[in-house]
Amino acid sequence: MYFVEVAIKVPLPRAFDYKVDEQLAGLTAKLTPGMRILVPFGTQRKVGVVLAVKNDTQINADKIKTIIDVIDTAPVLSQSHIELLRFTARYYCYPLGETIHIALPNALRQGESPDKTSINMISLSEKGAKIPSLKSKLQLGLLKQLAESGKSSLTELKALGFSKATIDSLLKKEYINQTIEHDNQWQTNPLIVGEKPTLNKEQAVACTTINQSIGFKSFLLEGVTGSGKTEVYLQCLEEIIKKGKQALVLVPEIGLTPQTVNRFRRRFPNTPIMLWHSALTDNERLQTWRFCEKGSCAIVIGTRSSIFLPFLSLGMIVVDEEHDSSFKQQDTLRYHARDLAAYRAFQHQIPLILGTATPALETLHKAINNKYQLLSLTERAQTATDNQFVLLDMKGQPDQAGIAHASLATMRKHLALGKQVMVFLNRRGFAPTLICHECGWLSECSRCSTSATFHKGIGQMICHHCGDQHRVPHQCPDCGSTQIFPNGKGTEQIEEFLTNEFTDVPVTRIDRDSTRRKGSLEKALDEINQGGARILVGTQMLAKGHHFADVSLVLILDVDSGLYSCDFRATEHLAQLVTQVAGRAGRSGEPGQVLLQTHFPEHPLLQDLVNNGYQDFARYALTEREDADLPPITNMAIVRAQGQNIRQVVDFLTDLVPVAGVTGIQLLGPIPAPLEKVAGMYRFQLHIQAQDRKILHQYLAQMVDYLSTSKLALKVRWSLDVDPIDMI
Ligand code: ADP
Ligand code: ZN
Ligand code: ZN
Repeated sequence: MYFVEVAIKVPLPRAFDYKVDEQLAGLTAKLTPGMRILVPFGTQRKVGVVLAVKNDTQINADKIKTIIDVIDTAPVLSQSHIELLRFTARYYCYPLGETIHIALPNALRQGESPDKTSINMISLSEKGAKIPSLKSKLQLGLLKQLAESGKSSLTELKALGFSKATIDSLLKKEYINQTIEHDNQWQTNPLIVGEKPTLNKEQAVACTTINQSIGFKSFLLEGVTGSGKTEVYLQCLEEIIKKGKQALVLVPEIGLTPQTVNRFRRRFPNTPIMLWHSALTDNERLQTWRFCEKGSCAIVIGTRSSIFLPFLSLGMIVVDEEHDSSFKQQDTLRYHARDLAAYRAFQHQIPLILGTATPALETLHKAINNKYQLLSLTERAQTATDNQFVLLDMKGQPDQAGIAHASLATMRKHLALGKQVMVFLNRRGFAPTLICHECGWLSECSRCSTSATFHKGIGQMICHHCGDQHRVPHQCPDCGSTQIFPNGKGTEQIEEFLTNEFTDVPVTRIDRDSTRRKGSLEKALDEINQGGARILVGTQMLAKGHHFADVSLVLILDVDSGLYSCDFRATEHLAQLVTQVAGRAGRSGEPGQVLLQTHFPEHPLLQDLVNNGYQDFARYALTEREDADLPPITNMAIVRAQGQNIRQVVDFLTDLVPVAGVTGIQLLGPIPAPLEKVAGMYRFQLHIQAQDRKILHQYLAQMVDYLSTSKLALKVRWSLDVDPIDMI
């Protein structure tokens, strides 16, 4: 007889001991950590994962229960994977069983068999490679996509909007082939490398430094868009896969475009590359999981949760656009994939490359303190100072739809030269509120302490916080007046105004509303690149990673909202956004122009940013954080609580405060959240800070223990966010 320590998906921080009856049917060998078993829990049966096997237990012999069944014959989690998940659970103060549940693909959570080891890949046949003239635009589009990528999986093609019917009819006509891939031959076959440029000096230095590093080492690869970072990743990856090792490339949600993937596939045509993102089905996730685990897949390009994939022999991790907020999960297990990447790289003793034009202050802080090695790419780049920045003082400026007349005149100049213009406003919809001209009524969400946004195109008022939606009123609900007007600006309004103002210039809008349909973002981007659209209006979606050759002017409308915010990170995010957006201008060789409309042109942050660039700004911002004792100089966690009863919410947080008998901890709160009420719930926060990370974690561990017994905790909804990236 022996015992196992088991992780079960329950909201409790600890694991559970069970007894193993060696007479159990089907049990042929001793259990090992990482296997899934079936255990009794209360009156239920649950799937659990064995964490450890031991000869004794603290639980009384008459209390301990016996496992019911064994699911696996081999572990689904390796020892080092269990360590990663234990670390994750401990660091983010989240129950271990639930952490494992989140990390596992759904099929494995359900106790399904882990053996799914083939994947359907589609490629062009010889006949198809000649790109025949076909009537069907979709079929032709699919052939062109394959000509670009070399090959794509069935899933990827579906994600791009190609239907099964399109694929089937091309298969029937023998224009494309379907093959099943499932082997590790890539490790022994000679590596084929597609056409590649010769690296410039800085890129070469970066590559050599990274490739010659031994063991664990983190690199910050700093360079604006177009400076050649991806080329550095590719040439470093080449060395890794040549050695038969695998690599993980983390990209932001929005960065996983066909262009990116095609580039990797063209470079490594006989290397299995797989994708990981939210649109995969359970089966596809399981496939990728197994491919990684068995070493059948060399490179994974994935979003946040790919950090939990098992690899047989991981050789490198790349995090592209490391500052991007989509790497941080904002609910349940609030992990940061970039920070876990550092843990994994340390675990496997491999290099980690963090690439960005605008490093997060957390990352820059580590680079300045020599924890990370800084590698800069400046040669190919048009540096920020190459672009001409203009701060346009809006005080007393005549404007239309929030665009100054001076800005309109500049737009006309660029359009007349045949260039493209980008107009940027980080607020979707037509107007953030409706206002009554007679009585001053404002369209507020009935369930949140915020306004309901006017969406003119679909005739709806929508709350962007709780999603509440209803028809646009014709009359003021308070005084009955019909004099109700849009108040403030959104991208929909800007688009409408510009379409009327520049009647002969095509305008395209890119935001969450305009790209809801599958494939619609790709379509819009294609249109832009083919020069169809001359004016691009968009939110931050437009700011990220896309390549536009003809944009020579970027106009940023809402700079001021980032300057004065209750979130201490707002200025950092504004500066990142301005720099990213500005990176869209002047890509075709000539410097571009960036117009920032502001009422505070003398603001030191703006001055620093436009005169000296992000690097200077960021270093200055770090000294500000230091003076104010804020992250990344200190370490922070937030307890958020919400409930319908405001008293209970405040009491719950107040009750936590005395737990702070520990020295070295600063507490702030309970304070109302910036948005005090959402969907009928009152929201409050407690901020916890410490100079010393260890002390912070000691305190948090103690608090989590206390919370598991607190009666008040049952009356509210609460969450704990370690290293929060916003204060919402
Ligand atoms: P980033 O990832 O920083 O945006 P990329 O690696 O995508 O930059 O480079 C931008 C463009 O420049 C790409 O088309 C790439 O192929 C090209 N490029 C990168 N490095 C070189 C080089 N050393 N010589 C020639 N072209 C290069
Ligand atoms: Zn009114
Ligand atoms: Zn609401």
